[in-house]
Parts: sequence; C-alpha cells; structure tokens
Amino acid sequence: MDVSLDRYSRQMRFYGIGEGGQRRLLESHVTLCGCGALGTVLANAMVRAGVGHVRIIDRDFIETNNLQRQILFDEHDVAENLPKAEAAARKLGAINSSVYVEPVVADIDRTNILELCNDADLILDGTDNFEIRYLINDVAVKLNKPWVYGGCIGSHGQTMTILPGETPCLRCVFEAAPSPGEGGTCETAGVLSPIVNIVASYQATEAFKILTGRLDRINRELIYLDIWENIQRRIKIAPLLGKVDCPCCQRRRFEWLDGEQGTHTTSLCGRNAVQVAHRTAERLNFEDMARHLETLGAVSYNRFLLKFDVDSYQFTVFPDGRAIIKGTNDIDKARTLYAKYIGH
Ligand SMILES: [Zn+2]
Repeated sequence: MDVSLDRYSRQMRFYGIGEGGQRRLLESHVTLCGCGALGTVLANAMVRAGVGHVRIIDRDFIETNNLQRQILFDEHDVAENLPKAEAAARKLGAINSSVYVEPVVADIDRTNILELCNDADLILDGTDNFEIRYLINDVAVKLNKPWVYGGCIGSHGQTMTILPGETPCLRCVFEAAPSPGEGGTCETAGVLSPIVNIVASYQATEAFKILTGRLDRINRELIYLDIWENIQRRIKIAPLLGKVDCPCCQRRRFEWLDGEQGTHTTSLCGRNAVQVAHRTAERLNFEDMARHLETLGAVSYNRFLLKFDVDSYQFTVFPDGRAIIKGTNDIDKARTLYAKYIGH
C-alpha cells in the first residue's frame, strides 16, 4: 500500500470507499460555507478523511459561548481573538498536514460566492441562515454543482442533499425562508451539541458518497430529527422535482445571486448583534483607526480584526470594512453606530 494512504486504511477498508474512493477524496475540492457548529464538524470530517482541498469560509470570530458545540475551537482561540476560519485551519493543519486547508475570512455574499465555489466539486452548508442558503442554492444550480443542506436549532435538525437537475433544489422544498422568529433562533431556543454532530455527520457522509461518485447511495429525502422529543422523519421530496414551478431550478432565475433578494446588513442569529457589511476597496489601517478610537473607548487589534468598546456596544471590525456590532439587534441603529465610529 502507498505509504501516504496508510493513515486512511480504516476508511479504505470500508467497502463503500476502497482505495479508488480514497484517491478520489484526495483529489477532491470542497467549499465549506460557514465554520460554526455544523461547519466545525464538517471541516473536521473532511480533513481527517483526506479531502484534498478544503476551503473554509467564515465571517465571524470565536466567543466563549461557541465552545459548547464548535468542536475545533478552544479557550486559547478566544483569548487570541482569532477568526473562526483561521483558527479552524490551524487546528486542522495539525490533524492532517497532507491536505490543503484554505481559510477565507469573509462574509459570503453575491459578489464573492461564484469565485469561492467555482472550482469546488461540492459545496457544504455550515451556515446558520436561510439567506446564505438560498444564495448557495442559486450558485449550485447555476454551476450545476452538488450541495448538502443542514440546519439545527434546539434539539432538532434537518438535512437534504441537492444534485441540481436530479433532485429538487432548496427552493423547490422551502419556497420562502422561515420568517424571523418562526421556529426560534439559537438565541431563543438554544442548541444542543449532539444534534449538531448528528446532522453534520449525515452531511459529511453524503459528501463522501458524492465525492467518491456513489450517487446511487445518496439520501434523496428530507431527513428531520428531534433527539429530545425522539422524532425521526423522512419526508419524500423527490416527486417535487419538475412539479413545483421553482424560480431557481425550473425557471433558472437566480434571485439571490442577482441581488433581487437579500441584504448584506443582517441581525446575527443568537447574538444580540448586527453585521454591517460595508465593504471598502482598500484594507482598513487598524493602526490609524486605533489611534482615533482609543480616545473614546477600549481598542485592541491583531492582523485579523479590531475590537472596540464604546458605551454598551462592542465593535469587531474586519480589514475589508465589515463590522459586527454587539449590543443591538436593530439594523438601523447598527448602521448609525457604524457611520458614527467607523465612518465611510
Ligand atoms: Zn428548485
């Protein structure tokens, strides 16, 4: 046996993978959107399994209340103010240095998603909101790439696998995003780590099937699980394909990608925080900013982000001009605060 394959021996011994499947995994490229609860489990599974190139995109930094479920992070990462994508890549590099883990600290939106997904064999959903999922769905259908949806709140979660043209897409099944408040958020309903691990593990297994070419084995239903209430449902969605007048996969109107739907400034799930996505052409100069801001409140910064406390608000600013403002859920208020302290 090839020495470099030895670390995957137990996976190759599994009849569904074999040496051929392993070689396909090593040649595969996955784009992972979001590296929080689901995303850390997914990234961990992809890198340990030997997926050759894993691009991890995340817009956020790590907080202590993430550690209950976001398996790649620790207290040291919180103390260092590391962005999630960067911390995940460091951890994964120590787990398997033979694959390429590419951290991208960015907010996924319609201006960058094509570039981030264009060269991927598969897109994995590790996000926590429907707006980005619809955007992923648009891109996946447009580029004809498979993607695997997953979502969790409280003790329940769901997942489905989308092969454009072959299975219904996300919009065939969920015509519109659940309105805010409907079904709760991580803030109101919390989330248990085991459901995250279960849903992400379903997604990861689907990824292995797709990347090794075993499309005959994929899950073609919507799986819904509630591990506290002991509910398991499999909803047959295959008949929806071509039966619903889906704007995305039937009429090929990509409303999120074309900017007809969606905003960039969003209230963040479970955070009492708003992200203001004000992208600048040039990278911000944190040194200059810190000098101006330190007369107003406490400022600290590293290569990846600048933190600034004023009144009851905590700003986290990224070099591309994006900011997460904690202490409010009010989008207009956050925009005002941004203009007042960050400018532009
Ligand atoms: Zn569709």
